[in-house]
Amino acid sequence: MASLREFDTKLVHQNTYVDKVTGAVNPPIHYSSTFHQTAFDQFGAFDYSRSGNPTRKVLEDTIADLEGGTNGFAFSSGMAAISSVFMLLSAGDHVLISQDVYGGTYRIVTEVLTRFQIEHTFVDMTNLDEVTKGIQSNTKVLYVETPSNPLLHITDLKGVIEIARANGCLVFVDNTFMTPYLQRPLELGADIVLHSATKFLSGHSDVVAGLAVVKDAELAQKVGFLQNAFGSILGVQDCWLLLRGMKTLSVRLQQSAKTAEKLTDYLVKHPLVEEVYYPGLTSHPGYATHHSQAKGAGAVLSFRLPDRECTKAFVENVRIPVFAVSLGAVESILSYPATMSHAAMPKEERERRGITDGVLRLSVGLEHVDDLLLDFEQALGKALLVKKETVNHS
Ligand SMILES: *Cc1c(COP(=O)(O)O)cnc(C)c1O
Repeated sequence: MASLREFDTKLVHQNTYVDKVTGAVNPPIHYSSTFHQTAFDQFGAFDYSRSGNPTRKVLEDTIADLEGGTNGFAFSSGMAAISSVFMLLSAGDHVLISQDVYGGTYRIVTEVLTRFQIEHTFVDMTNLDEVTKGIQSNTKVLYVETPSNPLLHITDLKGVIEIARANGCLVFVDNTFMTPYLQRPLELGADIVLHSATKFLSGHSDVVAGLAVVKDAELAQKVGFLQNAFGSILGVQDCWLLLRGMKTLSVRLQQSAKTAEKLTDYLVKHPLVEEVYYPGLTSHPGYATHHSQAKGAGAVLSFRLPDRECTKAFVENVRIPVFAVSLGAVESILSYPATMSHAAMPKEERERRGITDGVLRLSVGLEHVDDLLLDFEQALGKALLVKKETVNHS
C-alpha cells in the first residue's frame, strides 16, 4: 500500500488498520488483562495489559504517527499523562513553566511536585528574555502551552526550544488546544507533546483520556517505564472511542474554526465586549508567531465583559452553548475560568494573570453559526441592560 502522507488520510486509515483475521476496518476491543505465552522462555508482544494492550497500541501508534513522533502513550486522563511525564524529574530539579498554564497542571506543580523537592518558576513564556533569565543550573524542563488557557497567549516554540537546547533542558508542550492537525511541536524540536485527549481529539464529550508522544528512543523507554510503573493507563473501551472520535478531527476543527472566526468578528464589534482573545485576529500580539508555527487559529476563544454581573447575565441568558468545564467538542462549551479551569488558582494570582471575573472562554462546536450569532446577540443584549442598570444606580 502506498504510504499515507496527508494528515486527513492518516486520520481515517489509522495506521492502515484492517484486522488481519476478519478484515474488520476497526480494531477489536481487546478486553484481556493477560496474554497466553506460547514459548517457555520468551514472552510475546503482549503479556499484561497495564504494560501493553493491542487496542491501546493502535491508538498509541496512531497519535505517534499524527504528531510526527516515534512512540505514543495513552493515559487515563490528560492530568495522568502530564503527571506521569513530570516523574522524569528527580528531587532538586527545576521546571520553568508558562504562567497561564492549565489549572490542573498548576496544581500538580505547586502542590505535589514541591513535596518531592522539584522546584518551579512561572514565567511569561511569550517573552523569550524572561525565559532565558528564568533558567537555573538545575532547570531540566521548559513546560509550554501555546495558545495558553484561557487568554490564548502565544509562545514562540522555536525560540523556547533553542533556549532549552542551549541549556540542556527538555521541552514539554501541551498541545491540547491545537491538536496535531494544526500544530506539531515535535517537528519543531520539542521533546514531549502532551494532550488532554478528552478535548478535540475525542471531540464528543464522552471520554476522559490523555496522550504523550516522544520522538527519541531513550525518552520513549523512560516514558514507557513510567506509564507501566504508575499504571494510569487508558482502558480499552476508551481507547476505541478515542480512535473513533479522532477520525473526524480535521473536519470538526475546520468547521469549528470557521465559526469561531465569524464569532470573533462579531464580538470585537460589540459595545459590551472589552476584549477578544483569539490568535486568528490580526490584532492579536502573537498573530505572526502563531501562524509561523501552526496551521490555523483553532476553535477556542475568550472574551472579556465589564464585570461579574454582566457575565452572570450573559451566562444565564445564552441558550445554545452548554455552560460547563472542558472544551473541544461537537457542542459549543462556554466556561467561566474564574470558578472552573482556574478555580485551583488563588484570586489575586488569577487576576494578576489577567483572568478577571469578566473573562469567559468559548470552545466553538458544530452548531450553525447563524444560530450562535443570534443567541449571542440576545444574551449580550440582556447583559447590556444589567450594565446600564448599574450605571444608573451609581
Ligand atoms: C483539560 C486539559 C488538561 C487536563 O486534561 P484531563 O483530561 O482533564 O485530565 C490539560 N491541559 C489542557 C490544556 C486542558 O485543556
